[in-house]
Amino acid sequence: RAKDAGGNRYELADPDSDARAIDRHSLTNRLPAALERDEFFLEYQPLIRMSDGHVDGAEALVRWKHPVHGLLGPDRFIPLAEHTGLIVPLGRWVMEQAVRQACAWHEERSAASKNGGGKGKSKGKGKGKSAGSGASDDGCRPLRVNVNLSPRQLHHPDLVPDTVAVLEAAGMAPSSLCLEVTESALIGADEDELKPLRQLAELGVEIALDDFGTGYSNLANLRRLPATTLKLDRSFTQGLQQHPADPADVTFVEGIVTLAHALGLAVTVEGVETEHQASKLRDLGCDTAQGWYYARPGPASSFQQGFAVIP
Ligand code: C2E
Ligand code: MG
Ligand code: MG
Ligand code: MG
Repeated sequence: RAKDAGGNRYELADPDSDARAIDRHSLTNRLPAALERDEFFLEYQPLIRMSDGHVDGAEALVRWKHPVHGLLGPDRFIPLAEHTGLIVPLGRWVMEQAVRQACAWHEERSAASKNGGGKGKSKGKGKGKSAGSGASDDGCRPLRVNVNLSPRQLHHPDLVPDTVAVLEAAGMAPSSLCLEVTESALIGADEDELKPLRQLAELGVEIALDDFGTGYSNLANLRRLPATTLKLDRSFTQGLQQHPADPADVTFVEGIVTLAHALGLAVTVEGVETEHQASKLRDLGCDTAQGWYYARPGPASSFQQGFAVIP
């Protein structure tokens, strides 16, 4: 795993490297115009509460509809935006869009529960997976929206005021926003550097540690971070797919869940692709799950079909 990080060093030996460098260069140059021309858009992937299969919220994932190269995933351009600093306005845009979308869902949901569960809006595919009545008991509980923050945003002085402004403009409760930061972005952060996150947490914003378990997980560090949720990285979910599951991964997940709960943190698992993984992770005490087994990232409109209960 650790070898992945050193990609740059092999670049000269790679015949495609020139092409890729040019590609990177042109993508980087295009970023500011892309933001102005509305070439970015968000997809949302549901977060599923494992105890009952309700949709708890969704993670916003940015994409770029490039006029020449077509659809680009965040791995292609987020590092470039991070490098140039464009991630700050882009990240602000993402947060604004996502918060607005969450409010729109909330309104629809409240309206649907008043009209008897929004049955009229169900997909009608007849497969029974989305019964269209999921809004019934939770109808007025707002869906949470998760937004990824990059290290540069984290260290930008406007993070707190911008976040507060976005929430206020939308009239959204801080607890309906969850900011995802990677563990590695916080490695070595001193108290001053953690202050903005701490302030946001005190306002009620949820903070998730993304890709947990891939970096130099420092468990002592965990205690002093203002996090409310751990998002266990996909690599652990993959280990559970084997028959029998990799005992080391089972032990790790079990231990992390116990520790997280003892510290008052919730556990979300990423990359759940099969029913086998889902039931195993539920048995291990994970609270929330995300992955292709439930739903791939999709347009906001895919949430309008009754906020399905997924068993
Ligand atoms: P992430 O935050 O860990 O997001 C989860 C990634 O896993 C997403 O990739 C999602 O599409 C993918 N995924 C979800 N379920 C499954 C599954 O069951 N199997 C597999 N194999 N993959 C799954 P995506 O959309 O390509 O995003 C990649 C990364 O880009 C994100 O990782 C996040 O770090 C970053 N990113 C995305 N949007 C933003 C953003 O708005 N701002 C910042 N700063 N970073 C972003
Ligand atoms: Mg994330
Ligand atoms: Mg993640
Ligand atoms: Mg991940």
